[in-house]
Amino acid sequence: MPVADLKSYFAAATRLFRVPADNPDLMRAQFDAFSKQVPLLYFILISNTIAVAYTYVNVAPDWLTMIVPSLLTGLAGLRTYWWLRQRHIVRSDADILRNLRATNWLTLPVGAGFTAWSFALYPYGDPFAKSQVAFYMAVTVIGCIFSLMHLRSAALIVTLIVDVPYVLFFFATGEPTLKAIAVNNLLVSGAMVTVLFIYYRDFADLVASRKSLLAQQAATQALSDENFRLANLDSLTELPNRRRFFAELSSAFTDAERRNVRVAVGIIDLDGFKPINDNSGHSVGDRVLIEAGRRIREVCEGFGPQRVEIARLGGDEFGLVVCGDPEDADLMRLGERIGNQVRLPYQLDTAHTGLSCSIGFALFPDSATTSEALYECADYSLYHAKRHLRGRTVIFSSELEAEIRSRGVIENLLRSADFSTEMDLVFQPIVDAMSEHTAGFEVLARWHSSRLGLVSPADFIPAAERIGLIRPLTQALLARALATARTWPDHIRLSFNLSAHDVCTAEGILPLISIIEKSGLPPHRIDFEITETAVTFDFVRAQQSIATLKAMGCGVSLDDFGTGYSSLSHVHRLPLDKIKIDRSFVSDINDNPVSYKIIKSLTGLCDDMEIACVAEGVETRAQLDTLRRLGCDFIQGYYFAKPMPGPAVTGYLADETRRLGLHAEATSLVPA
Ligand code: C2E
Ligand code: CA
Ligand code: CA
Repeated sequence: MPVADLKSYFAAATRLFRVPADNPDLMRAQFDAFSKQVPLLYFILISNTIAVAYTYVNVAPDWLTMIVPSLLTGLAGLRTYWWLRQRHIVRSDADILRNLRATNWLTLPVGAGFTAWSFALYPYGDPFAKSQVAFYMAVTVIGCIFSLMHLRSAALIVTLIVDVPYVLFFFATGEPTLKAIAVNNLLVSGAMVTVLFIYYRDFADLVASRKSLLAQQAATQALSDENFRLANLDSLTELPNRRRFFAELSSAFTDAERRNVRVAVGIIDLDGFKPINDNSGHSVGDRVLIEAGRRIREVCEGFGPQRVEIARLGGDEFGLVVCGDPEDADLMRLGERIGNQVRLPYQLDTAHTGLSCSIGFALFPDSATTSEALYECADYSLYHAKRHLRGRTVIFSSELEAEIRSRGVIENLLRSADFSTEMDLVFQPIVDAMSEHTAGFEVLARWHSSRLGLVSPADFIPAAERIGLIRPLTQALLARALATARTWPDHIRLSFNLSAHDVCTAEGILPLISIIEKSGLPPHRIDFEITETAVTFDFVRAQQSIATLKAMGCGVSLDDFGTGYSSLSHVHRLPLDKIKIDRSFVSDINDNPVSYKIIKSLTGLCDDMEIACVAEGVETRAQLDTLRRLGCDFIQGYYFAKPMPGPAVTGYLADETRRLGLHAEATSLVPA
């Protein structure tokens, strides 16, 4: 055999007697398992030793039967105590290796010591006692191999240090019984060592597989962490999403409740985003959302002393959770900073400005006692901001609470209202600006509630929209309005208001068509008024509905123009017949140069597009004169008449004919 081979065999053999240092996991497992078995090991050793010492007590010298066993027992006791203490100590890998190595080499003197002691006793015994020594050594070594299973090197050292001298010694006695015991012990020890190898290999495998299982678990955990992150992230803006927002809100709320401090919820809605999205395309819209989200996040991160969490709730809505006992003033300050950032220009393909945002806040514990109710309150504040204080911040207050309550009352009563008896129609003339002849009437709904009295359509129409009653209501009102209009002279038109819900769904518009067909009123005498907001709500649907109505021969007017997004492209892309300039511009046309300019440009626009222009809410002669000068085509307002009940229309028209007839006669008498 070559020397190199011999060397490698020798190295492999010595490795068997060493604690492996290259596998910390195995080492740790060995240490754990072994520390549990150690008491067992010493129990076997000590109890066997005492049994032998007892037998020899009267025949052998005291130092052999008393002193040495006591010393060995004391030592074993100390080691047991030391090992028992190890169970609760956290150790480093190096520490464990050092201890295992020490244990490994300790088996050498301990094994040698007990063996030497046994051989020293042997000569004093009678044949029985001599056999007991042979038995004692055999049983003890098997017990030790068993107890040292997890530390293979130590078990092998013990086997070797005991069994080799054992066999030599008892063979040297020449006693056939003892020789037989020695051979027997050798065979059993051999079998035990085989078991030891198998067991140790399985043990090492088990440790390795547990390690890979742990690694697998860690990988699975990492994967699920990533999934968790994605499930809580809005993919467009990379802000926390709606789900994350509500989780955050609920935990912040619980925390505030426990610590007895305030917490606030905010909802941000971008004003003017929809037209950008509709007109410039979704990719531009997406970029605006990303940028707006980034700016809001920046404000939140730089805000203090309160901590502000931001999330995208969907569409152009963002949510805020403000922790750290915020005051109203803090929320206003936060709202203002966000507003200022959102309003800054955006770098877009199309030069567009005019994005702003409305924010609604609600504070715990002032406004609500649950996180869900708090969110609802913030939502209502936002709704209020959008309707009345666009682009501003509104904090939920007791006034808003009263408003909500009355909204709830209106909704409930509306559900049980009988449209045919409680709903009424009134008619307001739309007058030709130059001739002052009535060209038509706008029909306006009135609700006489038995409980609430007269309710404004500005309140009950939105309520009907919210509770899903607007379509049956529109249908009932239209049928009655058409029936009334049939009694009018042929040249008098009817203007009827449609809600966003009528216009933006297919189910909304089709029933109206059959109602018109059944009414017998020629469609060309009807104008449908659609608000700018309804059009921006769902532009494509609105466009389809308008096309359907136009195809029938009906006219379409854009209502409340100037209050919505004022996106001129809408006007260009819709086949409109009239634009109605909102009352808010008309009311201060003579006092506010801005209103004057807006109306001037609107009348110019209508002229260019050959669309008729209607001014709403005209209350004074001065307003009428200015509007005429600016080229307004039609006038509506209290200056001519307030909305009147249906039966009053005939009398009103007759009066007008008389008045204008006289006026015409009077003017014709004036010499040219
Ligand atoms: P609108 O379509 O802009 O109707 C004009 C509103 O201005 C009416 O209020 C009218 O009474 C009022 N008004 C007219 N002239 C003057 C004036 O010179 N000065 C002032 N201060 N106000 C004037 P009303 O009847 O309370 O209706 C409010 C809103 O409710 C309407 O605004 C319309 O959007 C909605 N609405 C009314 N009836 C219906 C309906 O049958 N269906 C739908 N969908 N909405 C309706
Ligand atoms: Ca109207
Ligand atoms: Ca209007």
